[in-house]
Amino acid sequence: ARREAIRTWRGPAQTKDGVLVDVLANVQDGAGAARAAATSEAGGVGLFRTELCFLSAQTEPSVAEQARIYGEVFSAFPGKKVVVRTLDAGSDKPVPFAKHEHEENPALGVRGIRLWLTNEGLIERQLDAIAAAGEDNGVERPWVMAPMIATVDEARRFAALCAERDLKPGIMVEVPSVALLADEFLAEVEFFSIGTNDLTQYAMAADRMSSPLATLTDPWQPAVLRLIKMTADAGRRAGKPVGVCGEAAADPFLACILLGMGVTSLSMAASAVAAVGVQLESVTLEQCQEASAEVLAMSTAAETKALAQELLS
Ligand code: PEP
Ligand code: MG
Repeated sequence: ARREAIRTWRGPAQTKDGVLVDVLANVQDGAGAARAAATSEAGGVGLFRTELCFLSAQTEPSVAEQARIYGEVFSAFPGKKVVVRTLDAGSDKPVPFAKHEHEENPALGVRGIRLWLTNEGLIERQLDAIAAAGEDNGVERPWVMAPMIATVDEARRFAALCAERDLKPGIMVEVPSVALLADEFLAEVEFFSIGTNDLTQYAMAADRMSSPLATLTDPWQPAVLRLIKMTADAGRRAGKPVGVCGEAAADPFLACILLGMGVTSLSMAASAVAAVGVQLESVTLEQCQEASAEVLAMSTAAETKALAQELLS
């Protein structure tokens, strides 16, 4: 029955008591993935991973070529929210044209926004391309976010670059320093998107690619949930959106817990949208809020997950 419900589910996503939930798709690269995501019931794109467009590009595509690629994603979602992430090259996603020295610890090295330290003008040219793609597609102030931000100075510098191009600036919350200083960061930007894959990796000091460490890189870890809660609370205080775009949002029970914490959007692989939609329809917002308050009092991942399942089934 559940499988049938998922197969036939239609958006927009909402809770049992009719509260609309912003359920969005993660898009892996350009046009093909965007069109596939557009046929899911996602309400837009919460994470466009631009670096995955360029995994085999030996030279940096021109601004015009980049604008064409980004424009394909905007045009697959006319009138909908599309959040473009600037290049998250480095570490597990090497992009040939983004110059990169050998590093002993690439996950702790020059990746994401840190590329601006070694690749002069790269980020500026990408922002020019995103602005041009927005203009070509009638998107007013496209949502743009930077990955791997760790300091308030970085957030301020990124927001200034966005302001020069009339882009709506946001940052990913992937480094625990951002959750710990969330109010200060939110004073600089217009939105947050929590990347639970990296936030978990960096909070737990465990490589997200390591299978023996899978119990550590589990977003049900209470320490990770506390960091998310701190971030969502800051968003509410500032009146600014705080989404989640990591794998955690694709877990139907965890999606309910995140909603209950006050997260304002959930972005996931397009293939997960319907399963999350079905689960959200089976619970009220109040039930999610109560469940999240209860599970936040747990001290192990196993207890947290088991209690959430019990309260939300
Ligand atoms: C994340 O870190 O959770 C995230 C969404 O970004 P990526 O998986 O592309 O690093
Ligand atoms: Mg990440």
